[in-house]
Amino acid sequence: MENKQDIRVRFAPSPTGPLHIGGARTALFNYLFARKNNGKLVLRIEDTDQDRSEEMFEQDIEDNLKWLGLNWDEKYRQSDRKDIYQKHLDTLIEKDLVYQKDGAYYFKTPTEGEVVVNDLIRGKVSFGADSFDDFVVVKSDGNFVFHFVNVIDDMEMKISHIIRGEDHLSNTPKHILLFEALEAPVPQYAHIPLILNEDRSKISKRTGDVHFAQYREKGYLPIGLINFLAQLGWSDSKGREFFLLEELINVFDLSRVQKAGAVFDIKYLNHMNHHYLNNMDFDEYYKLAKDFNPFEGEEDYHKKVLKLWQERVQYFAEIPELIDYFYQDPADYESKLLVFKKSSPDQTQKGLETAFNVLSSLDESSWSQTGLQQILDDTIAAEGCGAGDVFWPIRVALSGQQGSPSPVELLEVLGKDESIKRIATALKKLTPLELN
Ligand code: GLU
Repeated sequence: MENKQDIRVRFAPSPTGPLHIGGARTALFNYLFARKNNGKLVLRIEDTDQDRSEEMFEQDIEDNLKWLGLNWDEKYRQSDRKDIYQKHLDTLIEKDLVYQKDGAYYFKTPTEGEVVVNDLIRGKVSFGADSFDDFVVVKSDGNFVFHFVNVIDDMEMKISHIIRGEDHLSNTPKHILLFEALEAPVPQYAHIPLILNEDRSKISKRTGDVHFAQYREKGYLPIGLINFLAQLGWSDSKGREFFLLEELINVFDLSRVQKAGAVFDIKYLNHMNHHYLNNMDFDEYYKLAKDFNPFEGEEDYHKKVLKLWQERVQYFAEIPELIDYFYQDPADYESKLLVFKKSSPDQTQKGLETAFNVLSSLDESSWSQTGLQQILDDTIAAEGCGAGDVFWPIRVALSGQQGSPSPVELLEVLGKDESIKRIATALKKLTPLELN
């Protein structure tokens, strides 16, 4: 029987800042690869830089991974493992593979030849000797350097595949030399593409929202983010976009990860998230959405308002701005807005007044979307006014805006009294327009 090597991968963040979007994507790819291959995912906190590492960042990284549903099998912290690094340093000193200079230890690298990285995504990448001068493995203050502990841990943890950002590709020749010096097998590498802004510059704190928690705070769903992150560099062979996490595990394949940089398109994230919100069971949606509603009111009313937005909202933080006119009078819109496209204040006045009269006399029991639509359609036909002179100014009168759910939906949710009041205000606003 074939003796298949156990699949072991790791996500190895440095807790020098909160989880960023690239880190979340690296964690996801490692997670999918591990689960697909019945392997193990190791979370390794690379906190050798004691000055910049903070416990709260480690916490942030773990909280957000858990929130995404990316669970790991083993966890290590490099600051707990100094004895292990020291042991390997002693061996390298004994073998005369490192030397000391000005209190620091350097690792002896070849002065000619090349190191070839066999990358599962990039193919063969060769590095000439000029790209790996002797390098520091232990600083003069006694602190171990990233390259050294990273490789020792990959060896000790029997990591079979190193899936990490392309920004580490240039470190890889040094890492391969270290594996060789330690007489350890070199793992398989897969360097995943950089994440780029839309102008193709590298995404960074200065150019965009890179902190993962910001997306969580804005009310994106874990499943929306998972699918969005998955497509930052990977694509399904059949072009499918929406997957459950378990489904992604089945379809994910490193061979479908692209070499080219992956553009971070916020509109695409909004599209994905909108899809999931729109398809959610209402109770589940409401449970999450209500925390983003800052307005006071009856629960029943909140439900009606938020239901109206379920098929429209892209992420929950949009909610306060979208729904404010359901809770406060929008009377300060410009009067001109009431007039539909090429219509006139005169015709608008006539249309809105007709609607006002019909709606005022309508029994509350007929105050439903279908009843309202019917009666307004009938009125338009009977009075010969343009639909745009009835529905448009109703929309503006009720919402103060040009874009909203349909006018009859607004009427229904706002209720008769409030709707009539707002239409009366609109009629008053129209009068001076007519005089001008
Ligand atoms: N600690 C490194 C980082 O956060 C990870 C390097 C690696 O994955 O090998 O970039």
